[in-house]
Amino acid sequence: TIAVIKDVLGGRYAEGSTVTVRGWVRTRRDSKAGISFINVHDGSCFDAVQAVVPSNLPNYSNEVTKLTTGCAVIITGTIAASAGQGQAFEIQATTVEVVGWVEDPDTYPMAPKRHSMEYLREFAHLRPRTNITGAVTRVRHCLAQAVHRFFHERGFYWISTPIITTSDAEGAGELFRVSTLDLMNLPLTDEGKVNFKEDFFGKEAFLTVSGQLNVETYACALSNVYTFGPTFRAENSNTSRHLAEFWMIEPEVAFADLEDVAKLAEDMLKYVFNAVLTERADDMAFFAERIDKEAITRLQHVIDNNFVHMDYTDAVEILKNCGKEFTYPVEWGTDLQSEHERYLAEEHVGAPVILKNYPRDIKAFYMRQNADGKTVAAMDVLAPGIGEIIGGSAREERLDLLDKRLEEMKLPKEEYSWYRDLRRYGTVPHAGFGLGFERLVAYVTGVQNIRDVIPFPRSPKNAEF
Ligand code: ATP
Ligand code: MG
Ligand code: MG
Ligand code: MG
Repeated sequence: TIAVIKDVLGGRYAEGSTVTVRGWVRTRRDSKAGISFINVHDGSCFDAVQAVVPSNLPNYSNEVTKLTTGCAVIITGTIAASAGQGQAFEIQATTVEVVGWVEDPDTYPMAPKRHSMEYLREFAHLRPRTNITGAVTRVRHCLAQAVHRFFHERGFYWISTPIITTSDAEGAGELFRVSTLDLMNLPLTDEGKVNFKEDFFGKEAFLTVSGQLNVETYACALSNVYTFGPTFRAENSNTSRHLAEFWMIEPEVAFADLEDVAKLAEDMLKYVFNAVLTERADDMAFFAERIDKEAITRLQHVIDNNFVHMDYTDAVEILKNCGKEFTYPVEWGTDLQSEHERYLAEEHVGAPVILKNYPRDIKAFYMRQNADGKTVAAMDVLAPGIGEIIGGSAREERLDLLDKRLEEMKLPKEEYSWYRDLRRYGTVPHAGFGLGFERLVAYVTGVQNIRDVIPFPRSPKNAEF
């Protein structure tokens, strides 16, 4: 029987039964008594299984004792209770087949020692072999599955929104252009501007910065929908929480207001935290031991408590009076920086906090205007250690107010005719949010830089691999 290591360690095979495991050597130790202990991992769980190899195997001295970290092996043997502490089972090997040697063990970049995250980033193709990247990968998978499960159980449909788009949803200008034009030989208009009419899509096109405007169209017909896909922003600042390519989860709900989606965000976070604590206890134990000793207790605390809600206006007062010196001063009407967000979550509340009702002048055109004429029904979920992990809002469903906002912000109405149609034909209050998936994974694992929770990070001057 070919067995995965998770099942061997989990006790699926009775003592005395014969199994074959396939994987990579984590460590090898030879005892004086002429046996070798080889730890093999195959990615199925955090732990490696110990294979006990007797010296009477025909390839013992010429192969087994030459195995080094990273070698690929197929080991057959019998399941036995493990004498040492740690695992319940081990394998008494009867054959060890070496499938792939490590060419030069002394220069193998993933030699068994503690590497810095920066070092590992330079080996994005080899770092999946490390304990930490393996654990991150399994947690990331678990979170993605749990997100889909959460929405499915609540009757949401998953909608694929386009990756190539001609609208800049946020108006933030952090766009990557998509074009087939020859940069050295651009078609020009009479005014000497680039003539995008001659480009592939007949107009300027970009990689999406958010699926929101598109997903609203489906919410205004199927009621409960979400997108979960890649998002692109030409972020010029090199921060530990911005990537040029990241994944975003964006639910959109019809007949809903800001409070409804604030509750949805809270329920979703609790659901996925629960999933990761039960399904990936092995990896979470590693994060608690190696990365952040509060990795597990922090999630449990979130699960057990109601989220704190706070008004932007009150938050500004708290920040102004807290006596802390910030790099950027806070005034009503300014957008909060990560230092402010982190202060509120980490020091003021000590848990995630939902900040609501931001000044309308710092927010996107589509956010629903509040009766005070100054603020919009927007929320951010701020997490300790990171700052913003979710941004959401009620959307302006009243056509006259939406049009006024488009005018004030000098956005061309024609470009938004399809978006305006949603308000012309059976408009409903609706609301949604966007959760940055890498920020979620970073929060859950305690990993400091989101470049280390996505397999192949994209950032300025970095699209290697
Ligand atoms: P920030 O203020 O941190 O730049 P934002 O307000 O620009 O974030 P939104 O437009 O609200 O971000 O996007 C929704 C969510 O997507 C954010 O709450 C965050 O979790 C995530 N996000 C935004 N930009 C990035 C990025 N460059 N890399 C990774 N995640 C991001
Ligand atoms: Mg931003
Ligand atoms: Mg923000
Ligand atoms: Mg935001």
